[in-house]
Amino acid sequence: MNSNPKFVCDGTVVKLGKRLRILGYDVEITYKTDLPNVSEMIVATGRTLITKSITLHKQLGGIHVKSDRVMEQVEEIISKLGVPGSTRCSRCNSELVECDKDSVKDKVPIYVFQTNDKFKCCTKCGKVYWKGTHIK
Ligand SMILES: [Zn+2]
Repeated sequence: MNSNPKFVCDGTVVKLGKRLRILGYDVEITYKTDLPNVSEMIVATGRTLITKSITLHKQLGGIHVKSDRVMEQVEEIISKLGVPGSTRCSRCNSELVECDKDSVKDKVPIYVFQTNDKFKCCTKCGKVYWKGTHIK
């Protein structure tokens, strides 16, 4: 997955998709829930599927959310992906500030240091964020 992930929320997680958009995720929403239609959209867009359907998840991969409740689904996604362009720490919810690249050298994996120029640090717990934090 690259550092600017794009998603499709299918008909099982339409509300989740709308929430994720508000949070800044790049999300397309389809109201379809059948394999042919959703599959076609995934192939055509190259996006990652987010679904509550185990069947679609098994066929198409992506992210399977387990909860029936939207806010819990949002938590599931955030715990997996982090918040895009977030200004709040996902660990302690404190404000993030941009920090000097040199100051994070010992705090992030070397490849992250080499491939990113902008970092943010939590003002409270010191956790370091960069574009694509938590995305593997
Ligand atoms: Zn923090």
